[in-house]
Amino acid sequence: MSESSENGEEMAYDVLVVGSANADLTVRVERRPGAGETVLGTDLVESAGGKGANQAAAAARLGARTALLAKVGDDAFGTLLLDGQREAGTELRHVLVEKGARTGTAMIVVGPDGDNSIVVSPGANARLSPADVTAAREVVAASAVLSLQLEIPPATVRAAVAVAREAGTRVVLNPSPTPESLDPELLAAADPLVVNEHEAKQLSGLADGTPADRARALLGRGARSVVVTLGGEGALALAAGESEPTAVRGPQVRAVDTTGAGDAFTGALAGRLARGSSLVEAVRLAVRVGAASVTRPGAQPSYPTMDELPD
Ligand code: ATP
Repeated sequence: MSESSENGEEMAYDVLVVGSANADLTVRVERRPGAGETVLGTDLVESAGGKGANQAAAAARLGARTALLAKVGDDAFGTLLLDGQREAGTELRHVLVEKGARTGTAMIVVGPDGDNSIVVSPGANARLSPADVTAAREVVAASAVLSLQLEIPPATVRAAVAVAREAGTRVVLNPSPTPESLDPELLAAADPLVVNEHEAKQLSGLADGTPADRARALLGRGARSVVVTLGGEGALALAAGESEPTAVRGPQVRAVDTTGAGDAFTGALAGRLARGSSLVEAVRLAVRVGAASVTRPGAQPSYPTMDELPD
């Protein structure tokens, strides 16, 4: 399982994801319900999801050596999550199973356009603690990339960043769900900060302006590099010291379900960066992976292997 880094040290994993694991409960509807309204949907589909688990599955399925540090309950949804990671090829020894806890759950409604609305019940994710991260300090230190999102307690994310910073592990940060403002310590560690258009607007503080303006603003606020994802338009990459982002378009596809597209993108990006690619090279792969993921239903079940990627 080991490979040498540039300075000859043994790397445990290409990507260590510290984050959430949720069961996704999905129903498709013809029309979204308004407040106080009931609409009928399709049969319920249960699948493995959660931003952390999704990003780990995306990276692992593409061939990156990937581990997930997460917490699930000892219930049927926890088993679903573990099966999903096993199938993707993720190292499972750092997934903690908490007795008596409910596994996190996401209730997802997919509209006719393929766009989704989601309510998350954190469950065991809320119990992933700074102490759990500290106990895995050596694994964080021995991984090439630490991939983080914000579906676990903020103190746990901060603890992971502190360990990564001390060890020199590269941090990929996807600040979702989006806070009002981002802790400067987290922003300063992000290399890159990966945001969608909504997150870029919120965190840059630029109500007006283009995605490129917002990427520059986020770099100005302290991120080491920034990637803004643009749905069907692809993504922008802005590396440290640059003033003009590079636009990367993905393949044109017919979207059937965009659930987890951002996670497919971020997992692919993290895996490619861990193997030494430049930011733009990594974004080139990530837009292809994101596009492939929207052509199939679900989050993790929609993620491609390298062989399944469109040109
Ligand atoms: P989600 O919340 O649905 O997981 P997101 O809002 O975090 O996604 P997006 O910018 O919508 O992020 O999508 C992430 C990436 O997925 C895009 O950069 C792109 O590569 C791919 N993608 C998303 N939607 C489409 C689409 N309709 N056609 C092609 N690629 C897409």
